[in-house]
Amino acid sequence: MAEIRDAEVTIVGGGAIGCAVAYALVRAGYRDIQVVEQGELAGATSGQAAGLVGQVRATRERCLLAMASVAEYARIERETGYPADWRPTGSVRIAMTEERAAEFRALAAVARSAGLEVEFLTAARLAGRFPMLDTTGVTAALWCPTDGYLQPNSLVTAYARAARDRGVTFATRTTVTGLRITGGAVTGVRTGRRAVATDMVINAAGPWAGAVARLAGQQFPVVPVRHEYFVTRAVPGWHAGLPVLRIPDLRLYVRAEGPGILCGGWEPDGLSLDPRQVAIGQPLAVPPDWDVLSGFAADFARLAPPVAQAEVREVFRGFPAFSPDGRFIVGPVPGLRGFVMAAACNAHGVSGSAGLAQHVLESLQPDPSPYVRSLSPARYLPRTWDWESARAQAEAIYENYYGLPPPRS
Ligand SMILES: Cc1cc2nc3c(=O)[nH]c(=O)nc-3n(C[C@H](O)[C@H](O)[C@H](O)COP(=O)(O)OP(=O)(O)OC[C@H]3O[C@@H](n4cnc5c(N)ncnc54)[C@H](O)[C@@H]3O)c2cc1C
Repeated sequence: MAEIRDAEVTIVGGGAIGCAVAYALVRAGYRDIQVVEQGELAGATSGQAAGLVGQVRATRERCLLAMASVAEYARIERETGYPADWRPTGSVRIAMTEERAAEFRALAAVARSAGLEVEFLTAARLAGRFPMLDTTGVTAALWCPTDGYLQPNSLVTAYARAARDRGVTFATRTTVTGLRITGGAVTGVRTGRRAVATDMVINAAGPWAGAVARLAGQQFPVVPVRHEYFVTRAVPGWHAGLPVLRIPDLRLYVRAEGPGILCGGWEPDGLSLDPRQVAIGQPLAVPPDWDVLSGFAADFARLAPPVAQAEVREVFRGFPAFSPDGRFIVGPVPGLRGFVMAAACNAHGVSGSAGLAQHVLESLQPDPSPYVRSLSPARYLPRTWDWESARAQAEAIYENYYGLPPPRS
C-alpha cells in the first residue's frame, strides 16, 4: 500500500469506476495520479456485483458504451496479461408476454443500429442452448452472442495493476475526510492523518459519492438502493459456459457460477438509503432479505424447477448508486474547478466501467460530445430538485430496471 501524497489527480474510491478511471487517465497521458480508498480495492459495491455484461440497451449511446466496455475487457487481458476473467458466453433475453416480445424487437433494432449482433432464437435453438429450461410460455428469445460475464474482483485488480504499472499509486485503508478549496478550486485532500495537495479530485466513491460531494459543499442526488442475489451449490446441468439469462417479465437475471446458479432480481419495492444520512466512512452493511431472495428462487423455478431445491451457498448484496433520471453523473462540477464527478452508475458500474471511464476522460477535454455533456452534474445545479422526489425517482429507476417502455400514444 502506498501512502497518500501530493498528486496532480486524486481519485476518491478504489472500486470499478475509480480504478477504470485511473487506468484510462494514465493511458491517455495524465501523470501523477493517485487512488485513495477507505478499505480495500473492490471492497465495497464492485466486489458484490454479479459481473453481468449486457450490451442490449434501450438507447444507442448505452449500447455503444457497453460495446466499448466489452472491447476493453478483451484488450486489457491481451495487452497487460492481467485477467479480467471475462467469459463471452453470449446471453439470452426471454420474453413471456407479447408486449415484451415487441420490446425485444425494438431493442434488436437499437442494437443493430449500433452495430451489435443479435438474433431471435427459435424454441428449438433456445432448448439447445438451455436444455434444463422449461420454455413453455416463452414468446421470444433474443440472443446476443458477444455478451457474457466477468469476475468483478478480477476486473478491478486488472485495472489497478495495469494502472500501477504505469505509475498510478494506490493508498488503501485511507479515508478522505475533507477537501481544501481555495479561490473556487479544489487544492487539497485531507484524511484523518494528513493533508496533501492536489489539483483535481475525481469523486468515484460509489454510494458514498454524495457524502464526498458534500465535502466540497455540493449536493448531488446519488441514491444508494439495495440490491442482492444468491448463488447455489452445484445443480445438475449447470456449468460456467452457459449463456447469461435475463427474464424481464419475472424481473430476474441468472447465470451459472461454476456448477451453481446465480440468480438476482429487481424488487418491485426498492429500498433506498436517504443520501443525506450517508456519512463519510459509514459502513453500508445490509443483511440478506430472505423473503425477497426466496421470491426470486420461486419465480425462477417456474422455468428451472431444480432451483427450488438447490441449497444457497452465498448471498451477495450492496447499495449500487442510482440517480433520479437513471443516467450517470459524470464530469467537472461547474463553479468548482478541479472537482469531477464519476458517480451514479445505476447498476452498470462494473459492466460499463471501461466506457464510463472514457466518458470521464472526454468530459475533461475542451469539447466533449453532446452525449457526454448531457451526463454533466450541471443538470442538478442550481438545486431546484428536492431530496424526497429525487429519492423516489431513483427508486423508480431501480424498480423499473426491466420495465416496459410506456405505450406510444
Ligand atoms: C448485488 C449486486 C449486483 C450487481 N450486479 C452488477 C452487474 O452484474 N453488472 C454491473 O455492471 N453492475 C452490477 N452491480 C452494480 C455495480 O456493483 C456498481 O455499479 C459498481 O460497483 C459501482 O462501482 P463504483 O466504483 O462506483 O462503487 P464502489 O465499488 O462502491 O466503489 C466506491 C469506493 O469508494 C470508496 N470510498 C467511499 N468513500 C470514500 C472516502 N471518503 N475515502 C476513500 N474511499 C472512499 C469505497 O470504500 C468504495 O470502495 C451490482 C451491485 C450489487 C450490489
